Amino acid sequence: MLILISDAFDKTLPEKLKKYGEVTDDKNRLPEAEIVLVRSKTQATREYIDQAKCLKMIIRGGVGLDNIDIEYAEQKGIAVHNTADASTTAVAELTFALMIAMPNQLVRAQQSMTEGKWIKKELTRTELMGKTLGILGMGRIGTALAIRARAFRMNILCWRPLVYFSDFAVIRNHLEEVLAESDYISLHMPLVDSTRGIINKKTLASVKKGAYMINTGRGQCVIEEDIAAALKEGTLAGYASDVWYSDPPENSPLISAPNVLMTPHIGASSTENMQRIGEIIEKLIGDYAQRH
Ligand code: NAD
Repeated sequence: MLILISDAFDKTLPEKLKKYGEVTDDKNRLPEAEIVLVRSKTQATREYIDQAKCLKMIIRGGVGLDNIDIEYAEQKGIAVHNTADASTTAVAELTFALMIAMPNQLVRAQQSMTEGKWIKKELTRTELMGKTLGILGMGRIGTALAIRARAFRMNILCWRPLVYFSDFAVIRNHLEEVLAESDYISLHMPLVDSTRGIINKKTLASVKKGAYMINTGRGQCVIEEDIAAALKEGTLAGYASDVWYSDPPENSPLISAPNVLMTPHIGASSTENMQRIGEIIEKLIGDYAQRH
């Protein structure tokens, strides 16, 4: 059995998988691979799947399956798995770091000190305590974020889809209600047809003036042009993003927009998460090897 590691994983993973077969990171060997390991970089499209003549299983290290044509893979009898539970803490902690960094102006403070400037009076800060956090996508990551926000004494709202009850947030039926009431809005829903571009000029019109938005979900859930305009107009006080239309972003209007805090899709990249992902993959391949 040939296992192709197509994206970046924990460095110890190839050694651990050797007991199940040959392990390679040579993408030219896709036609021979029985199992392919991907993260978000590899696009397992119809064309990609057509090249993989021996493929039986795709494992996505991470949560979002939007880079895999699941329907086509299933038609071809290829099983698709993700490592859904592994990344929750890593993404929730990065989201919280971004949410703290913006109102505390941490990046501007660092830059000013590096430039030898002392702008103590200009660096006004605001606190999270007592502010309202609106969570769009109250699943694993949204809930982990809510638990952390509660410890900071924030008020927490979430948007309804697929949420039947919550111990951590007050549920609102309409997106516009969450946008209108929140000082911080955090995106954690999957990228599907109904969430693609859902934060746009029209929905941004409902946002409370001066709110901060954090997106560690998926870049394509927002219209970047409209976010950039909202930042310029002051509708949004800040936008923190870990996720982009492409990795890395090309010609994104956000790069030059004011009050943007950017990270290069590192939400899942904690050392601990890479180890957890490796453990789940090892188990999935171990089970597969036993069955075949
Ligand atoms: P999850 O499935 O546990 O939660 C997603 C939640 O979104 C659901 O519980 C539901 O409340 C809501 N939702 C589902 N479909 C919806 C729809 N059509 N409209 C509105 N809301 C909807 O997933 P999770 O583990 O919390 O991960 C959430 C997302 O975070 C992933 O889909 C992925 O895109 C993203 N993610 C990003 C990184 C990163 O590196 N930045 C890492 C992991 C996950």
